[in-house]
Amino acid sequence: MSRKPFIAGNWKMNMTAESGTQLIKELIPLVKDANCDVCLCVPAILIPAMTKASAGTNIHIGAENVHWANSGAYTGEISADMLKEYGVKYVIIGHSERRQYFGETDETVNKRTLTALNAGLTPIVCVGELLEERESGKTNEVLDRQLKDGLNGIDDVTKIVIAYEPVWAIGTGRTATDEQAQKTIAYIRKKIGELFCPKCAEKIVIQYGGSMNAGNCKGLMAQPDIDGGLIGGASLKLDFAKIVNFDK
Ligand code: PEP
Repeated sequence: MSRKPFIAGNWKMNMTAESGTQLIKELIPLVKDANCDVCLCVPAILIPAMTKASAGTNIHIGAENVHWANSGAYTGEISADMLKEYGVKYVIIGHSERRQYFGETDETVNKRTLTALNAGLTPIVCVGELLEERESGKTNEVLDRQLKDGLNGIDDVTKIVIAYEPVWAIGTGRTATDEQAQKTIAYIRKKIGELFCPKCAEKIVIQYGGSMNAGNCKGLMAQPDIDGGLIGGASLKLDFAKIVNFDK
């Protein structure tokens, strides 16, 4: 079964309406013939301006988080309906920075994921182990828990994207080797087969994230189980286009 590659950027808390619009303007001609799906997940306040900047192109705009309630007394949060109003298609859920700094747990990841799916958004659910967990041989145990609890109750798991992001590789310049990333993503795929169904495992798109850049993307994307990338730092510059065009 062939899965369409998917390259997504994560701007985190970077860019302004002006610099973001400029970057998107320059990216448009460079990514227009991409053979993969392309998305930039941007800070919530930039969504209207970036949607405008990318209108009519193959660049989708995504969000970096979504709340599980439809509306209510949740100061500072954004609902799925608010995102949809601006044409948002994808939303990152459970990024390690949310888990580390903002108290995100597998339970809240699960609630956000179910709400996003109900609203017709495509969640990009992030999973991955800390350095000490990898070094103590606990990677698979951590992934088992994140997948079982974070994806609990999903009807059609192929409607989500999983981003495997080893925490030790995010923003550190230390990428997982092609073999490490392939081996762990193959494990995640096998686990999806066990938790859901073997066909789901074949169909679900799984990205690698963690210091992916123009230099290492080809090797990572050549791995049989790696279907794409979630790109932080390199999505803030024109290098993002080189990653999108990994196959050229
Ligand atoms: C990320 O933020 O999801 C990420 C992978 O960051 P970086 O590419 O900078 O490591």
